[in-house]
Amino acid sequence: MTHPNPIIAEMFDPKQFSETGHQLIDLLTSHLQANIAGTSKVLNWKIPNIEDSHWNYPLPQHSTIKPQDLLRKLTQEILPNNLAIHHPHNIGHQVACPLPIAALCDLVASLTNQAMAVYEAGPSATMLERQVIRWLCKLIDETSWNHAGGVLTSGGTQANLTALLVARQVSSRKENPSSNAWKDGIAHHSPLRILASEHAHYSISRAAGIMGLGSDSVIKVATDPNGRFDINALKIAHRNCIALKETIIAVVANAGCTATGSIDPLKAIGEYCQANRLWFHVDGAHGASALLSKKHRKKVSGIELADSVIWDGHKLMYMPATVSAVLFRNEEDSYAAFNQDASYLFQGESHEEEAFNLSYRTLECTKRMMALKLWAVFSLYGIESMGALIDEAFAKALVFAKKIQKSPSFELLMSPETNIVCFRYLRQHANHKEANKHQSDIRRQIIQNGAFHITQADLHGVTWLRTTLMNPFTTEKDLDELLENVASASQTVLSMAK
Ligand SMILES: *Cc1c(COP(=O)(O)O)cnc(C)c1O
Repeated sequence: MTHPNPIIAEMFDPKQFSETGHQLIDLLTSHLQANIAGTSKVLNWKIPNIEDSHWNYPLPQHSTIKPQDLLRKLTQEILPNNLAIHHPHNIGHQVACPLPIAALCDLVASLTNQAMAVYEAGPSATMLERQVIRWLCKLIDETSWNHAGGVLTSGGTQANLTALLVARQVSSRKENPSSNAWKDGIAHHSPLRILASEHAHYSISRAAGIMGLGSDSVIKVATDPNGRFDINALKIAHRNCIALKETIIAVVANAGCTATGSIDPLKAIGEYCQANRLWFHVDGAHGASALLSKKHRKKVSGIELADSVIWDGHKLMYMPATVSAVLFRNEEDSYAAFNQDASYLFQGESHEEEAFNLSYRTLECTKRMMALKLWAVFSLYGIESMGALIDEAFAKALVFAKKIQKSPSFELLMSPETNIVCFRYLRQHANHKEANKHQSDIRRQIIQNGAFHITQADLHGVTWLRTTLMNPFTTEKDLDELLENVASASQTVLSMAK
């Protein structure tokens, strides 16, 4: 059936969807092939101010382009100016080069637009999410996590906030059973603190700010030179809080740390938290995916001691952004984030159905059907194939680290525990400040000439070049080329300074 108004009929025309869609898939297929082959620059760097002036079209009052023009704009302007995510030289951020099938699932999610706040607004979307959450909990631990549960969120930042809201509610009640921080606020509460690694992701202090605790309520626990949580520093910080009559709502550990990928001693921290009745939160946005690999899952052993875990799909699960999970060892806890008392909720006749209304446990009201892509990839490829991606990424990081160690022009921060490698170019006769600046200058040079995409990290006052090796198409030859590029960028930077 077509709509009587021809304008509206065209907007929803299934035939146009099909025609444009098939062409779009062909176009994206070529784009993907070219990206993987690495035929063009990884980044077509342009000065943002100048670029911005090109995006100043008048507000369209009526149609200004046809679907064909849309495809042409994509091919000629939009795609070439994206960061080429599947390019072998894209080794900067932790963002996945997504599995193509997962991108197709996102198209389904978009067209079907399941709101998901309540079961009836997305029955199969809700079931897919529950299925995926059960799988993730099973990967953490079959036995101690058999009453676990959680939800998917749009990103790890929101997942951390959700977990810390639960931690605040549960921990403040432990101290005073009549306390209800969600309802009454925290003005009359003893000061609430979060103990986190000094390298905790900024989303932790941001969550503290959002929760009204103040971002300074996050007490930074010192790390060793490799960026790992120092358990003795944790004990000291804990004792200080007790002396100051402060309430610790959570201890936050990294698996792994954003800067270096290193994994905190989860078992030791977890045991300490259990012995001291402290909420243990593991930020596994990046590294929880080690659980997918038979070979590497022991690196995160102790994660099962956590009360809450977050895990990003759009990092080492190779999903398109965004999809993250916030998981609780005790499923009932997940209702505490937004103060629904699960026992209250589940009394009465409709109780069984309430469990299927996900919005009790999420910040989002309407959210995207995020589970389809995870379900599809797990089902199509299985954990073995997902694990193979992890094995490949972690092995490549070790290969790269060895290359760096062998070269006298470079310094390696640490042997990588996961897939992040930090290193620096050794500049002769440079003081500390100059040597730091030199790394940033090299990076800028490389980014702007579009040879590679790499990032940088500051650790204990030292600037490091940082690579995240998760693109399966990056070869050893590419890594040799990167080191050559860094050396020549160093020359260029020095000659420009003269
Ligand atoms: C990436 C990351 C986050 C933030 O997750 P988003 O999905 O980008 O919001 C939080 N913690 C750690 C350790 C991360 O690596």
